[in-house]
Amino acid sequence: MNVYNLIKKEINGRKSYAVNLTKRLIRIPTVNPPGEGYGKITALLEKELKKIGLTTKRVVTPRTVLKKYNIDDRLPRVNLIADWQRGRKRTLHINGHYDVVPVTGDWKVSPFKGLLRNGKLYGRGAEDMKGTITSMILAVSTLKRLDMLPEVNVQLSFTPDEEIGGMTGFGWLVKEDKIRADYGLSEGYTGKCISCGNKGIMWARIECRGKSAHASVPYKGVNSFDAMIEAANALKKLRVRIKKRKTAFKMKNDRDRFPSMVLGGELEGDNKVNMVPSRVSFSIDRRLIPEENLSSAKREIEDVLKSCSKKSGHKFKMRILAQDPAVAVNPNAMICRAAGSAVKKVFKSTPKLLLMPGGTDMRYLVKKGIPSVGYSARGGENWHSDNEFIYIKSILDTAKVYAMTVMNLK
Ligand SMILES: [Zn+2]
Repeated sequence: MNVYNLIKKEINGRKSYAVNLTKRLIRIPTVNPPGEGYGKITALLEKELKKIGLTTKRVVTPRTVLKKYNIDDRLPRVNLIADWQRGRKRTLHINGHYDVVPVTGDWKVSPFKGLLRNGKLYGRGAEDMKGTITSMILAVSTLKRLDMLPEVNVQLSFTPDEEIGGMTGFGWLVKEDKIRADYGLSEGYTGKCISCGNKGIMWARIECRGKSAHASVPYKGVNSFDAMIEAANALKKLRVRIKKRKTAFKMKNDRDRFPSMVLGGELEGDNKVNMVPSRVSFSIDRRLIPEENLSSAKREIEDVLKSCSKKSGHKFKMRILAQDPAVAVNPNAMICRAAGSAVKKVFKSTPKLLLMPGGTDMRYLVKKGIPSVGYSARGGENWHSDNEFIYIKSILDTAKVYAMTVMNLK
């Protein structure tokens, strides 16, 4: 039998293992915030990884890092790293986050039981991303059971806090060189779609300053709300300009291939009806395509505000709240080709390499220059929503894709 057929047969025979492990993961509510159950779930994962013959290591994110990001430091943020050291030159790093978002809305089943119904396993985190963690472990376990000899080392990490940005989980591990990676694999698209990067983001706040006065004698003040209207109108014109750019990368929805800029998601101002408002501020959410960079995106906004200030006489101040560049991996990179031909094998259709609108922990690797892809097991697209579930069949298929990706790498 060829490599793929052996892998396929082995994985198809381990459906009950996949169901069981995913259930056990769902039954530990690793809800974030606040970030609970981390010790418990990493203990379970560590046991599982040791069982399949990997060496493991727990690394706790230091409290100083948690403090820096204003994260509750009473709850330990545990990172688990596991190695299948093959004495090879290069290492594939596979990462999964085990934290889940809080339960909101209207669940028809218990979110932390792991109910199995019609081939779907329900629970908070089933799709994002405990089912996929099962696929990752199943893939490595399968290769080991079959005595397959990949030409790369494999390192796995299971990390917290992706749902609050990842700076205190995988982001920290990557920044501090706690992991080994020549290639990366993390969550992303599913089926025949593979993600190869994501758009960038810049959050800013524009403060418009005026001078307060009683509304009965408005000529004594300067209205900051009027200033805001001028600024917002000028920025709307900028938005028309930036929307003329289009990324060369393919995306699921063609409408996502342009930069975007949302104004006014947050608004703040003086709160009095009979006053000339002295201070109004509004937010900007700017999304960047890989062909753009953060500093020129910032400069574009500053220039608009400057000329608006010149024309209107109003004063503006821009503050960056958060920013992260777009990341994209060349579709011809070895990891893209390895994952692509794995997908082709499993689904017998042409793989699609796509850029995602939003980012995952994968961006930390790509930012560091490590070519990486994102790929996940399929659910009902109700992640972060009610009645989240994962298809058992997809956990198995995804494990096949992962296992084949490992075998395709050099
Ligand atoms: Zn996720």
